[in-house]
Amino acid sequence: MSDTFRAIQIDKVDDKQTVNLVNLTDADLMDGDVTVNVTHSTVNYKDGLALTAKAPIIRKFPLIPGIDFAGTVALSDNPAYKPGDAVILNGWGVGEGHSGGLAERARVKGDWLVKMPAGMDAAHAMAIGTAGYTSMLCVMALEDQGITPESGEVLVTGAAGGVGSVAIAILSKLGYSVTASTGRTEEEDFLKGLGASSIVNREEFNTPPKPLAKSRWAACIDAVGSTTLANVLSQMNYGGVVAACGLAQGMDLPTSVAPFILRGVKLIGVDSVMCPKPRREQAWARLAKDLDMVKLDALTTHIKLDDVIATGADIIAGKVRGRVVVDIA
Ligand code: NDP
Repeated sequence: MSDTFRAIQIDKVDDKQTVNLVNLTDADLMDGDVTVNVTHSTVNYKDGLALTAKAPIIRKFPLIPGIDFAGTVALSDNPAYKPGDAVILNGWGVGEGHSGGLAERARVKGDWLVKMPAGMDAAHAMAIGTAGYTSMLCVMALEDQGITPESGEVLVTGAAGGVGSVAIAILSKLGYSVTASTGRTEEEDFLKGLGASSIVNREEFNTPPKPLAKSRWAACIDAVGSTTLANVLSQMNYGGVVAACGLAQGMDLPTSVAPFILRGVKLIGVDSVMCPKPRREQAWARLAKDLDMVKLDALTTHIKLDDVIATGADIIAGKVRGRVVVDIA
C-alpha cells in the first residue's frame, strides 16, 4: 500500500457541503484499533442522502462517507483481529460521525467489525451490504413472531430497491410466497427472477389509508414507510406482522390504532446501525446460508470509486435497481 490512498471526502465550505474524490494518508483517518485495506464498499440509500446532502447524515467534517466496507486487516491493536483477517463493517455511525468505507483504507474500532462468514467473499458481502443485512434482520424479525411459509402471502415494498430485492431473494429461498410492490412495473421479469410470485403497483398503497381494509397479507417487509406503510397495516391479516425498516416515501405514518386493536397486527421496528453484535453475526451467518448467490449476482451492479458521487444522486432519484458494489482494490 502506498503512503496515500484514494477516498471520497465530504467537507463543509461556507456552510455548503462539498464532495470530492481526493488522496489522503493514514494521518487523515479517525481513531480506532484496527486499520483495514478496503477492497469493496457499496452505495446505500443513506450514503446517497449523505453524498447529495439531501439529509444531515454527516455529523463531522471533513469525513469519508460509506456506512459499509469489506476488506483485509492491515494493522491491529485489537486481540480479536490480526493482519490478513477478512472483515465486514456495517453501521455503528461509520460514514456518519466516523470516517467510512468509500476509500481504499479505513480505521475503526475492532468491536464494530464482523469476521467474514465461511463461504462468503468481500464482493458478495458488499453486494449484500447494510441493505441486504437489514433484509435478513427483517426476515429474522418475522420469524421471531412465528411467521413461517405456511402463514400466507408476504408483501415486500420498495421491491426493486436494495432492501426489497434482497428480501425477495431470501424469502423465496426459504419457501415463502412473495408479492413485490414496485413503481417500476417494467422490472416484473427481474423481480420474478428473484422469486416474487406476483407484482403489485405501488400506487395501490398510495391512496388515503382506511383504518381497516380487506385482509391480504400474513407478513410484510416495508422499506417505504409513510402512506404506503399505513395502507399495508390496514390490509394485514388477523395477527399479521410487519417488519418496518425504511422511509423511502417518508418518515410519517398516517395510520390509526385499528389494525393493532382489532386485528392484533404487530409492527416490528428494525434497526441495523446499533444492532447488537451477536444478532449481526447471526444475520451474516444466515445470509451465507439462506441467500442464493446467483440471485445476488443478478441484482448487483459493479462500479468504481470514480462513479460513486453520480451513483449517490441516482439512488436518491430511485434509479438504482438492486444493489451496487464499489470495487475499490
Ligand atoms: P433503495 O433506494 O435501493 O430502494 C428504495 C425503494 O423504495 C425504491 O427502489 C423504490 O422501489 C421505493 N420508493 C422510493 N421512493 C418511493 C416513494 N416515494 N414511494 C413509494 N416507494 C418508493 O434503498 P434501500 O433499499 O437501500 O433502502 C430502503 C429504505 O430502507 C431507505 O429508507 C433506507 O434509509 C432504509 N434503510 C434502513 C435501515 C435500518 O437500519 N433501519 C438499513 C438500510 C436501509 P420501487 O422502485 O420498487 O418502487
